This record gives sequence, structure tokens and C-alpha cells, in this order.
Amino acid sequence: MPTAFYSHPDCRRHHMGRGHPECPERLDAIDDFLLASGLDVALERREAPLLDLRVAGCAHESNYVAELRELMEQVASTGEPRALDPDTSAHPGTWPAVQRAAGAAVAATDAVIKGEVENAFCSVRPPGHHATRAQAMGFCFLNNVAIAARHALDVHGLQRVAVVDFDVHHGNGTEDILAGDERALMVGIFQHPLYPGSGGVPLGTNMLNLPIPPYTRGAEVRLLIDQHWMPRLEEFKPQMIFISAGFDAHRDDELGQLGLVEADYEWITRRIKAVADRHAEGRIVSCLEGGYDLGALARSVAAHLRVLAGV
Ligand SMILES: [Zn+2]
Repeated sequence: MPTAFYSHPDCRRHHMGRGHPECPERLDAIDDFLLASGLDVALERREAPLLDLRVAGCAHESNYVAELRELMEQVASTGEPRALDPDTSAHPGTWPAVQRAAGAAVAATDAVIKGEVENAFCSVRPPGHHATRAQAMGFCFLNNVAIAARHALDVHGLQRVAVVDFDVHHGNGTEDILAGDERALMVGIFQHPLYPGSGGVPLGTNMLNLPIPPYTRGAEVRLLIDQHWMPRLEEFKPQMIFISAGFDAHRDDELGQLGLVEADYEWITRRIKAVADRHAEGRIVSCLEGGYDLGALARSVAAHLRVLAGV
């Protein structure tokens, strides 16, 4: 069965101003590299649908979703951008991108559970893992991965799902939403201290956080993953795995100070895939989070996809 690659042109129409690192060119860099490397032919391209907003209610407070929609519609009608936090702003192209990004995660979940595809990668923006139940922050508006994970639990009736987050920043939004929900296990590794500053003390027993200091390199990260993530994942036996795939822990990325390289992303993906193959019939939905050095991002996504697609 193929690996699906979900994206949509609307995801490129969201921009937060000149020089902002979370820029449309990130998706172009990924596409260009997949074409140039020939990896494109191994993937089944699928168009990300718009999110049915009722589905967002499984992870976000309904008031928040309604207020976000209202604000976005005002922005679209006036053309005036609105800041939601110091580095997160809504522009006229933002709302369709937000709905496509979360829509991709949900559609990918449906396709993987129905057995149409083996696994899926969502090449989307804006990212989602900093969005909490009721707050947009850190370039994120809706929490794509948390919505998809809850959709798998609530609608498809899965009993155990794992969320794996290897972005350089702590996935505080996903933790806010899933902490205490024992149907979900979240394992994360992130630079600490770094934005958003959380994660040092986990909010629930279903959270396995590995805060690591700046300048930690790939070999140490691999050791920590084998010592901490793997036994918990094996014990939990997830029926599906969601990945918050941020590539900003790369050595070349200026938003963090970790030292991962492409081979580390390949290794991490192999470890996750092995768990999925053993316990989850291979079911994985991976969603792009961070990754701001365009070259490193494109090469790292390709390394990740090669493992997912088994090529
Ligand atoms: Zn990040």
C-alpha cells in the first residue's frame, strides 16, 4: 500500500509578513526536493480537504473555534492582519490554510484507518502543536495532530493512540489537550530551556517529556529515545501513531540549538515505524510542524518519507 502525501495550494497562501521563518517557501522547498530526488513517484499525492469545523471540537473549546472563525472572517473581509501573539498573526490567506492543515490530518487519519493507504504525511502549514484548547500561539492556530488523534479515538473508536513529537520546541498545545486522557500516550523530546518554556514538569502520567539542553547531538538523542520512548511505546501498544514532525532540531536550523542531521530523522522514523508495524498494523499519520532552514527541512522530510514509504 502507498504512502499518502497530503497538501494543498491554500497552505502556501498563508503568510505572516516579510522575514517570518514560518513562510510559504517551506512547502516549496519540500516539493522541489521530492521532485529532484525522484521520491515524488513513490508517494500518492492527495488534496487536503477543508476541515469540518465540528471536528475541531474534539480537541478545542467550541467558543475558541467560533471566535477564531469570526476573527478570521473579519480579517478576510477587511484585509487587515491581526496579531494573536507576538509571532502569530492572521492574514487574509490564513483561515483556508488553517482548515486545510487540520483537514489534511483528519483525512489522512480516515484514509489510513480505512486501509486505503499504509501511512500518510501532511505537508501543511500552519503547524499545530503549540495551539492549546483555547489559544493560538507559536505560529499555530488549530492543533492538527491533537484533532486527528482525538478523531481516531472518538469517531473511529480506537482505544490507544500515541503521539510522537520530535520538534525542537515542546508541544505544549498537544500536552494541554491530551494530558490526562489515558487513551493517548505522548512522547516528546525538545530543547529546554527554549520557547515556549514548558514541558519540564509533565502535566499528566500519559506524557513522557524529555527536555534536553542546547547542543545535544544526534547520538545522545538516539540513546534517550531508546532508553525512554521505546519501552513506554512497547508497553502502551498504540493502535495508531501520530507524529508531530518538526525538523527544527536540525543542526542547520537557527530557531533551535540542537544537532540533529538527516540520518537522525531517518533513524527516529525507523524506530517509530517499527512500533507501528508491531502494534498498529503500520498505521502512522505524520504532520509537518517546524523546520525553518529550507535546505535542511527539505532533506530531512525526504529522509522521513523514505522510511515511511519503504524506499
Ligand atoms: Zn518548532
